[in-house]
Amino acid sequence: LAAEIDNETSPEKLLSPVLSAFWDEEKPWTLETYRRHEGYEGLRKALAMAPDDLIAYVKDAGLRGRGGAGFPTGMKWQFIPQGDGKPHYLVVNADESEPGTCKDIPLLFANPHSLIEGIVIACYAIRSSHAFIYLRGEVVPVLRRLHEAVREAYAAGYLGKNILGSGLDLELTVHAGAGAYICGEETALLDSLEGRRGQPRLRPPFPAVAGLYACPTVVNNVESIASVPAILNRGKDWFKSMGSEKSPGFTLYSLSGHVTNPGQYEAPLGITLRQLLDMSGGMRAGHRLKFWTPGGSSTPMFTDEHLDVPLDYEGVGAAGSMLGTKALQCFDETTCVVRAVTRWTEFYAHESCGKCTPCREGTYWLVQLLRDIEAGKGVMADLDKLNDIADNINGKSFCALGDGAASPIFSSLKYFREEYEQHITGRGCPFDPAKSTLWA
Ligand code: NAD
Ligand code: SF4
Repeated sequence: LAAEIDNETSPEKLLSPVLSAFWDEEKPWTLETYRRHEGYEGLRKALAMAPDDLIAYVKDAGLRGRGGAGFPTGMKWQFIPQGDGKPHYLVVNADESEPGTCKDIPLLFANPHSLIEGIVIACYAIRSSHAFIYLRGEVVPVLRRLHEAVREAYAAGYLGKNILGSGLDLELTVHAGAGAYICGEETALLDSLEGRRGQPRLRPPFPAVAGLYACPTVVNNVESIASVPAILNRGKDWFKSMGSEKSPGFTLYSLSGHVTNPGQYEAPLGITLRQLLDMSGGMRAGHRLKFWTPGGSSTPMFTDEHLDVPLDYEGVGAAGSMLGTKALQCFDETTCVVRAVTRWTEFYAHESCGKCTPCREGTYWLVQLLRDIEAGKGVMADLDKLNDIADNINGKSFCALGDGAASPIFSSLKYFREEYEQHITGRGCPFDPAKSTLWA
């Protein structure tokens, strides 16, 4: 597999299906299918190691959190204090809700056992005897499938008492959330899991110190944990042979918007959008890329100038955005950027939990201004006002939702200020609603 990602690399080499390797087989979600594909072999290897060695192994592999922040997974496990006499918990964040992000839900639907196997390995490493999966509540078919996979795992001895004769006992609880974006923020998720209204807690203390029921807790994303079994089974060097030096391994990219073939594309970190579009059929026929998000709407947007930015944490960061959830939403020239930003901002205003003033009030005022501009009722001073309000949200809010809401404002004004001005001088939107799918 490709150690170095460059434009010369063939598509066959760039596609590196591990998590999605058998999604197209009949009933890929069953234990039987999973076992045919090395299922639970990583667990056997993990159980033969000492927990601390296992943590060091995952740390050396360089796996970084796939929920958006890219925090090193092994380091997060290492933060859990040992010998403290308290219960330790693993909580899997499956509350995927970032606009454009749709990787964990398909992964759970097609291959839930990769997550369950990863959970058992992680719990063995951090000495936890109770794990939770906090699933986005709206995805009822996934909930049912997950329950069935957990039942299968208990019946086969991968969960419960004395797992595979190792002495490890582990209970796994699947919990469905009630549909709030903020409950994907790790501390709001913990509050919600404890039965309270989901609102972010002050950090520090981080969950590793005081998490679920005030006990040391690892909160990991679905894809992060589901990637662990393959690392154990095939080795950290194999994992590091993919991707880039600081962002090794394979990952799932969600391609959506005005593309010919939207969907999940598994590839090494460091691939570029140009390469992904080349191998997936490109933008819809007769149209060209105008702007896109590297990691969902919370990450600053890019334009067609950024097609060759390596999609890893360093590459995207150096180009002025964040890799985030690797949700590549692509918009073509028929899309009004003001309209797109208005829709995203309406989402953030709706999902703001109301705990802190900059986000609660600021997102409301951003929406009012954007709606006015879009409707042809804006004035030039509104553009500075948009920047000013976003500036008063960014870095001054209690959690990352506020920063995420400010990000499309800054980046759209940076790249498309003229388009905002056209709405103001032309007293309305210059785009033809009949030509853009965003108007539906
Ligand atoms: P963060 O960088 O603050 O933290 C990342 C992780 O590292 C957390 O689990 C945190 O507990 C841990 N951590 C960081 N510093 C630590 C320390 N000193 N000690 C112990 N643990 C430490 O990021 P965040 O606010 O948790 O998440 C923001 C990210 O979430 C964004 O990058 C965004 O892309 C992503 N996001 C994802 C979705 C989704 O649907 N998957 C939705 C919204 C946002
Ligand atoms: Fe709530 Fe928004 Fe403040 Fe986060 S930034 S605590 S979502 S009001």
